[in-house]
Amino acid sequence: EVPRGVPLRVSGLRKEFGGITAVDGATFEVEEGSLTGLIGPNGAGKSTTFNCITGVHEPTDGTVQFRGEDITGARPHAIANRGLVRTFQIARELDEMTVLENMMLAPGGQRGESITRSVVPGLRSDVVEQETDLREEAWETLEFFEIDHLADEYAGNLSGGQRKLLELARALMTEPDMMLLDEPFAGVNPTLEEKLLDRIHDLREQEGLTFLLVEHDMDLIMENCEHVIVMHQGRVLDEGPPEAIKENEEVIEAYLGG
Ligand code: ADP
Ligand code: MG
Repeated sequence: EVPRGVPLRVSGLRKEFGGITAVDGATFEVEEGSLTGLIGPNGAGKSTTFNCITGVHEPTDGTVQFRGEDITGARPHAIANRGLVRTFQIARELDEMTVLENMMLAPGGQRGESITRSVVPGLRSDVVEQETDLREEAWETLEFFEIDHLADEYAGNLSGGQRKLLELARALMTEPDMMLLDEPFAGVNPTLEEKLLDRIHDLREQEGLTFLLVEHDMDLIMENCEHVIVMHQGRVLDEGPPEAIKENEEVIEAYLGG
């Protein structure tokens, strides 16, 4: 077996909010092309960990490395430009834009930036060309998620599940190498959930994308992830293949004990 790379390394990550220690020295790695699950009871520090990795919060201590480079404390758009993205809930302002417009405005990506840069006199044809590329990419991505029929619908009119698909589609517009998904199935019906999972597996297999997934449904995690990291009280309590995690008494207790 060919050893895989490790795009993401989190070492001794700490995050304090006033007197609260949300993340308390978390250390873990994520293998290239894997679908890794990050689980743990409410308040374990999963979302804060994601926020520290993606530059939303500045860590109090510790380091985050992405593809061998230290990205600790970098700005979210700089991290996204390196190919590490998370999904964001669609902001209220974007409800009044169509699905296609939302896709074309997808934040953080190199494409978006190159378009802004090229908006200078004398480069009109470049702009038009790039916009055409962007539009094509947006359509292809909408087709991939089977929401292309909603392209002209206002984002505000989408169902909860369709919104989740759009959030994922938007994040993909930045052409990431790795995606962090924080409870992407919340409020999604089983049919859409299945579709979303299929797309995630497709992206891993066809594009080699790496996924780190926070999800509270243990069965979903155990069935879909090849590696599982368990957080409890801001630390990594255990990690390993799902079969091993399922057997760990401490893990079971952390859940039942809250
Ligand atoms: P999880 O996603 O695992 O449920 P969080 O990372 O959201 O956990 O929260 C971990 C702890 O940090 C909780 O006690 C939470 O109340 C606290 N926390 C998270 N974000 C903030 C914040 N912005 N300010 C203060 N406390 C926060
Ligand atoms: Mg959370």
